[in-house]
Amino acid sequence: MKELEKFSSLLEKMNAFKKGKTENIIKIGRKNTFHIIISDKLTNMSKSQKEEVERKIVNFLNLAMKCPFFSISKFKERFTNLKIVFDNSEKSISCYNARSSKDNELHISNNMSLEHELFHISSDKKSDEVVNVGFAYKNNTQSLGFGINEGYTEYLNEKYFEHHMPGYYDYFMLVAKKVSDLFGEDVINNIYFNGSIYDLINIIAEKSSLEMAKQFINDMDEAVEAYYDFAKSDNKERYQQYFNKITAAYGFIDRLEKNISNNGSLKK
Ligand SMILES: [Zn+2]
Repeated sequence: MKELEKFSSLLEKMNAFKKGKTENIIKIGRKNTFHIIISDKLTNMSKSQKEEVERKIVNFLNLAMKCPFFSISKFKERFTNLKIVFDNSEKSISCYNARSSKDNELHISNNMSLEHELFHISSDKKSDEVVNVGFAYKNNTQSLGFGINEGYTEYLNEKYFEHHMPGYYDYFMLVAKKVSDLFGEDVINNIYFNGSIYDLINIIAEKSSLEMAKQFINDMDEAVEAYYDFAKSDNKERYQQYFNKITAAYGFIDRLEKNISNNGSLKK
């Protein structure tokens, strides 16, 4: 009997380890305020759908804590002001609309990875004047970093959850992975969670030139725009444009990687 007790406590520890470090495990009980925050937001859902979404969010938090610079307290703060809309229709996709610091919306569908969107929420810097989510940046005059942002978000999703949807953002993710390998996950995560696209442009420019760094971010943005158009309309021309831009971006980061290992940079 003693052996059986030992075995079951070992099994518990093993399971806890698999889910995350034992001391970090978040338990969401009925009386926990965070549970109430999640539960209250999930309207127009059945009880089992609610439980599934709650389970996913708790699982996300337990695993995301392993990710450098991820902040659970910031996540809670952002989540508290979030409006959640559930859409179970066949063509719906999950998405996060960052608008101003107050009226952000998360759309949940069954067809897309919720974790990807939770990374967007976690990396929203919450500014009233501009949109600054991960590497995506938008103010009254410009909008940039959306392509590399989707790639890096999907890379984190793949790395921590292995939920990557094959085909979706595949090449964007490969480019983003190279950026992370080149500069280090800590540096890139710190920018993604706490900085802005300008910090990313600057570190790439240090190893190449400001012009090349801007061109790279721009190619990624044009690639993602063309990709969305293609996905919506099946327009072959837009697919070709997406392909050309993503290939240019990948080519640049690949050359940068080779030059850094040879002589330190792409500088002439
Ligand atoms: Zn996204």
